[in-house]
Formats: sequence, C-alpha cells, structure tokens
Amino acid sequence: MIKVNDNFGRLAPNYLFSEVARKIRIFQQENPEAHVIKMSIGDVTRPLCPAAVEALHRAADDQGLAETFRGYGPEQGYPFLAEKICQFDYAARGIDISPDEVFISDGAKSDLGNIGDIFSADCTAAITDPVYPVYVDTNVMTGRKIVFLPCTEANGMVPGLPTEPVDLIYLCYPNNPTGTTLTRAQLKVWVDYARKVGAVILFDSAYECFITEEDIPHSIYEIEEAKECAIEFRSFSKTAGFTGMRCGYTVIPHALKGVDSMGNEVSLNGLWRRRQTTKFNGASYPIQRAAEAIYTPSGQTQIRESVDYYLHNAAILRQGIGAAGLNFRGGINAPYVWVKTPEGLSSWEFFDLLLAQTHVACTPGVGFGLCGEGYVRLTAFNTLAATEMAMDRISKLTL
Ligand code: PLP
Repeated sequence: MIKVNDNFGRLAPNYLFSEVARKIRIFQQENPEAHVIKMSIGDVTRPLCPAAVEALHRAADDQGLAETFRGYGPEQGYPFLAEKICQFDYAARGIDISPDEVFISDGAKSDLGNIGDIFSADCTAAITDPVYPVYVDTNVMTGRKIVFLPCTEANGMVPGLPTEPVDLIYLCYPNNPTGTTLTRAQLKVWVDYARKVGAVILFDSAYECFITEEDIPHSIYEIEEAKECAIEFRSFSKTAGFTGMRCGYTVIPHALKGVDSMGNEVSLNGLWRRRQTTKFNGASYPIQRAAEAIYTPSGQTQIRESVDYYLHNAAILRQGIGAAGLNFRGGINAPYVWVKTPEGLSSWEFFDLLLAQTHVACTPGVGFGLCGEGYVRLTAFNTLAATEMAMDRISKLTL
C-alpha cells in the first residue's frame, strides 16, 4: 500500500466546531422550546455590499461576450485589483508597495497554509497560543518544529520573544481569538528581533478593518524596516463579507530575502511567484472585479457600514459581559471578545453552563490552544437583535 505522510497522524483532532455544533444539537433536542443564540460563529452574517454585487453582475456579462471574455488570468491576480490594493491599503497609509509585491489569492487561509512551501522544513516556527489553528496544523503537516509563545493574563496577552532560536514567527493582529492588538511599539519589538536573528514574520492582518484606535498598526509595514523581515496576509472575508466569495492577498516585498543551502541569497517574492504560478491559477475574474468594486467611493462607504455594524455589536458584547461581572478583553479593535471563565470553570464547563442557563452558545477557548483554557470566545458577527438578546440573557446569569 502507498506510504502516507506520517505528519498527519501528529495533528490534534480537529473537533472544536463540530463538538460545539454537537452540543448545541443535543441541547436543542432536549429543550425543543429553547431559542439558542450562536455567539460562536466566525462567519459574517451581513450580505455582500451592493457595489460588489453590481460588479459581479457586470463581470458575468463580460464573460458572456467575445470582446470582454477572460480565460486564465495572471496567477498572481489582475493588475486592476493589485493597483487598488497598493493605493488604498498601503499608499493611503504612507506605505510604498508595488503591484508586483502583491499576490491575490482565493483567501488568506490558503496563503497562510501554503506559505510554508517556500521555507525549509528545518525551520522552526514560533506560534502564539491561543491561535487561529491553521498556522499550527500546516506546520505539523510539514513536520516543522513548533515553539509556542504563550499569551496569558500574566503578559497581558502580549507574547514574549522566543527563548530559543526560531525562523518563522506567526503574528495575528488584531488577534483571533483574543481580540487583542499590538501597539506600534510592541510590534516594533518583533520587527527588531526578526531582523536581528534573521527570522521572517508572517503577519496575519485579516481583521485590520476593525481597528478603531490610533496607535494600532493596520499593516506591519508601518514599522520601518519590516519590508526586510515580514510577509503580510490580508483577506476580503471580514473586510467586505467575502467569506463565501473567496479573495485575499499576500504581500511579499522585494527587499525580503532568504538564503538557500548553498548560501546564495534568494528573493522570497520570486520563490512565492514560482510557487503560485506552478500550483495556483489565480482567483476568478468576477471575484476580483467584485473585490475591486469595494475600493470605489460607494464600495468604501458600504463596507465601512458593515464593519461598523459588527463593531457596534462588539461594543454591546463588551458592555453586557462587563455588566455580568465577567472579565474580558478585545471587542475594541476586533470582532471578538475573549471572556475569562468564572473562577474554577474550564472553557467547556462554562460553555455548558452558558448554554444551559442562557441558551447562548460560545466557543471554548481551549480549542484555540492550551493557553485558551479558562476562556471562551464570543463573536460580534451575529445580528444586532441577537447580540442584544444574548447580552440580556447573560445579564441574568447566576454563577
Ligand atoms: N486569518 C485569520 C486570523 C482568520 O480568523 C481567518 C478566518 O477566520 C482567516 C485568516 C481566513 O481568511 P480567508 O477567509 O480569507 O481564508
């Protein structure tokens, strides 16, 4: 029989969301009259904005006419979208990124999962804990050594620098699941460290559009010299409700270099281009047209309205959770609120208690890593009415 990749056997069972769904299903069967509010969802609930929908329709028409039909596009994305990204997401913040440093894809998850292809399997990956599980699992699949960087009450959820040598550093800010951020000064510590030790930072800023505070960088390239040590991953999923559309992008500056086993300097931009042109055939034309439309004046207003809607929900979560006497973080620059479970309760025990008493479902923090034990995550991605109702119920929680 064919030999399989043994590393898959080293993956932790991925049961978090299926276990949450199973528990809700059982609860619902036993309590058919209960109306369960899912504050566990990590998906957007608001529809695509009209500007994107109109662009989709126009792109469908383009595909039906010989003069405007497009077949295979550039693997790294159409220039019409890459130019808008450079102008709106970077130049507008004083950052000079050229279109050939931008790689458009079918979403940040694929890029975050695939980026390991261009690095040696011998690299050690530093990953914060708790964390978006894709970083850990994809490195386990490759057989890389992983060093966890605990984010705890003691360090205020700000990871400390690794105490052993690492090569790849995964940072996600604003953070999923904790909703916390790094200030410019805190992020600069990582950029300085990466440059000093020759590591590469893989900076996931999928939630950048939720930043409301001044001192929080939207892009790692706001830190000087980050272009020499960081790759940035962005997504249209939460910014523009593209979870079902699939579009994101990765920025790899030309200044970012690696070294091969012969000691030759290698451009990471060049390696990723080679990887993408070999294994990826580009995000679809209509989807890239829809993404382009969010950079029009009406598109910008419409996506801002949705992000503000979720941020308003997040503010209601903060208010409600605080009023219930629970400790929490996040919800200011992120759609997630990270709630400390009451004294003595594990993540799953608090999940069960919340579901039983308030019929509100959350996500147990331990599912995001060992340091997530003792927390649960609530999301702002529900409707305003459901969020308000959930908080009203939680205000009556008895512990
Ligand atoms: N990065 C983080 C931190 C996320 O939470 C998610 C989705 O939940 C993604 C990336 C994936 O984004 P995309 O939908 O573009 O694949």
